[in-house]
Amino acid sequence: MSQTRVFSFPHVGNYCVVIENMLRHIFKNHKILVPPAITKKTLELGSKYSPDFVCVPFKYNLGNFIEALEAGANVLLQSGGGCRYGYYAEIQEQILRDLGYEFDFIRLFAKDMNARTLYRTAKRYGTNLSILGVAYYVLLATQMVRKLDLIEAYIRENIGFEVVPGSFERLHKAFLQSLKDVDNFRQLNVVYRDYLRKFKDLKVDKPQDCLKVGLVGELYTLMEPFSNYFIERELAKNRIQVSRYITATFLLFDKPKLRPKILAAAGKYLKYHLGADGTDSVERSMALAERGYDGLIHIKPFGCIPEINAMPVLQNISRDYKIPILYFSFDSQTSELGVKTRLEAFYDMLMMRKEVST
Ligand code: SF4
Repeated sequence: MSQTRVFSFPHVGNYCVVIENMLRHIFKNHKILVPPAITKKTLELGSKYSPDFVCVPFKYNLGNFIEALEAGANVLLQSGGGCRYGYYAEIQEQILRDLGYEFDFIRLFAKDMNARTLYRTAKRYGTNLSILGVAYYVLLATQMVRKLDLIEAYIRENIGFEVVPGSFERLHKAFLQSLKDVDNFRQLNVVYRDYLRKFKDLKVDKPQDCLKVGLVGELYTLMEPFSNYFIERELAKNRIQVSRYITATFLLFDKPKLRPKILAAAGKYLKYHLGADGTDSVERSMALAERGYDGLIHIKPFGCIPEINAMPVLQNISRDYKIPILYFSFDSQTSELGVKTRLEAFYDMLMMRKEVST
């Protein structure tokens, strides 16, 4: 392998900005390559070399890796979780080696997310920083994730009501660009405060009783807009306030603390955890229904067992709270037109219900 290491990792929403920033600081003498933006070709590549039955986030990740390797990456990072996500790294590495690529593969599972292991891994791959230096940039990244999620939650709830078309999107791009250049906590706080003010200064025309829709479901398809056919953007076009609680902040920081409470909060609807994000989908759906949301959209990859388990429970919530739920199951063959048509029908139905109830 060449001396210069070129690190890369799969896309998930805009978190690539945070990961790139962190790796750039930790591996100052090496290159960081953000994989090319996801396109249909990414999914085609990933699907071509994936087992047929595997869930679609695996295919997107594999497509990202292939495109990154083709662009010169030679060190890939992948993490893993409690469901099939736990097998992603091992299988993807094998597939890529069988395809003839040469690279190092770093697997970061939950058990590796402690200062000592992270530092040892960083040292092996060429960091010049001390353990405190590495810890500093890991902590900076965690704070950056929080700020990014806070700003994007505000965007989600307001972009559908912007007075100047494109104003939120333009500012969002500028915010992401500024995040890339952050080097320390002070700069991060300045960028965050500055952009939060700028977003709040953007003119919106948002009625008190606007339609409110909550998104629940599997983490990857919720957080990666390409994989859900930009569902949040489509909803915003119809002047809908969109809320989504599954974010990296929730998964990394809030969920571990809340885990026992989430099951209890799901009350009569759940006795046991459903695995992955299934329990959260149930508890969040209940919470959103109680807050008077007009509708829910449940998103999952085809074949995602934890979310399949959640669906009958969501139907009970829908019946008890009289809240409509639209279910989407995405795979590499999903038709974009079909998604849009179902969204439009859902929107029309929500509007009719609203008109009847006022
Ligand atoms: S949560 Fe579902 S889609 Fe995601 S890896 Fe697990 S089984 Fe696959």
